[in-house]
Amino acid sequence: MNPSVAQAAAPAAEPVARRPSLVGRTRPGLGEALAEIGVPEKERRMRVGQLWNWIYHYGVRDFQEMTTIGKGLRAQLAERFSLDLPEVTAEQVSSDGTRKWLLRMPPAGPRDRGAEIECVYIPEVDRGTLCVSSQVGCTLTCTFCHTGTQRLVRNLTTEEIVAQLMVARERLGDFPNRTPPEGAFVPGDGGRFVSNIVFMGMGEPLYNFDGVRDAIAVISDDQGLSLGRRRITVSTSGVVPQIGPLGDEMGTMLAISLHAVRDDLRNELVPLNRKYPIKDLLEACRTYPGLSNAKRITFEYVMLKGVNDSDAEARELVRLLKGIPAKINLIPFNPWPGTRYECSDWERIERFSEIVFKAGYASPVRTPRGRDILAACGQLKSETEKLSARARLMLEQGEAETAAAAH
Ligand code: SAH
Ligand code: SF4
Repeated sequence: MNPSVAQAAAPAAEPVARRPSLVGRTRPGLGEALAEIGVPEKERRMRVGQLWNWIYHYGVRDFQEMTTIGKGLRAQLAERFSLDLPEVTAEQVSSDGTRKWLLRMPPAGPRDRGAEIECVYIPEVDRGTLCVSSQVGCTLTCTFCHTGTQRLVRNLTTEEIVAQLMVARERLGDFPNRTPPEGAFVPGDGGRFVSNIVFMGMGEPLYNFDGVRDAIAVISDDQGLSLGRRRITVSTSGVVPQIGPLGDEMGTMLAISLHAVRDDLRNELVPLNRKYPIKDLLEACRTYPGLSNAKRITFEYVMLKGVNDSDAEARELVRLLKGIPAKINLIPFNPWPGTRYECSDWERIERFSEIVFKAGYASPVRTPRGRDILAACGQLKSETEKLSARARLMLEQGEAETAAAAH
């Protein structure tokens, strides 16, 4: 089946002075905005609460709709700030209901053209999962991952991370009392809006620790977007020193991109393994704060034909994870142009999963979703060529600051 593709109009020329958006800001960030327009300190807390409610609970896009705030203050806010969301430059709908949005972030400064990132919504029977990005590109170079080949890398800001959820909720008609925008997809069964978030889009979330932490604070706040921390999963390729702090400061679910059971192979697939080998990684997992049978770590394992998919490796995987409350997620490799890997045969994946299952682990094989729109989670790749071209252009024009390494 052909996916339907809605291409939004080409972005207009850059406006000269853009009013900064309040959408995506933390509570202290909103406090600062109020301070900027002279709201007295003793009033700020109450005003932040009001703004918070309008922005995150109701999703309003116009200060005039904030009826609990006096007209004067509304006008002051509107003069200095906006409630803009990133522009949706393309929306693709897969035949299986998966939706992919290409978002263009507002430029951070006069010389920044604004990053483009993708996020993907995957509706399932019992949940709706939004796969979000934490960086533009990735400084790590996992050999099977297309994001790792991208040259333009920067951390997304807290606002840019939160904005991905705001756009999804708006496009899905998921704010109370708001008329969804034209073309929005409103799930008919009431239960398939965004209920879960996975940081499995572009980038290594633990290399953007503060940005991700603050975004999670906004997303999980029960007065606003209200997505519980148990419904948020941060996936890491294994930044060992940040795993403990992730549990302490964010309290989310943890996913580890393991992909190999021996250091020599993992060094090749996930080069960060040279710095933090499997033993250290698993030790950090064992001591992950809050770990219990109800709060298990997900181990992701991409199935690469003839590389990491033997019976012996399945058995070794089970042995390695002994004692760690774990789930194992087998991911069929999603090939991209120029890759040297192939996806394991289906029979091989089944056999591997059987060994894991017999050892007592639920081992769902992540069904490839949205393949017709190249939207597999962790594989947000279709725009990467374009971004590389942009990166080259920017570098040529001496705008290297926008391509600064993320860490
Ligand atoms: N950087 C983080 C999160 C983003 S990647 C991490 O590596 O965990 C999210 C998941 O998608 C990871 O498990 C990653 O290994 C996987 N992935 C990347 N490229 C893939 C591909 N081509 N096919 C299948 N899974 C892939
Ligand atoms: Fe980066 Fe994750 Fe891709 Fe590795 S798998 S290059 S850490 S995004």
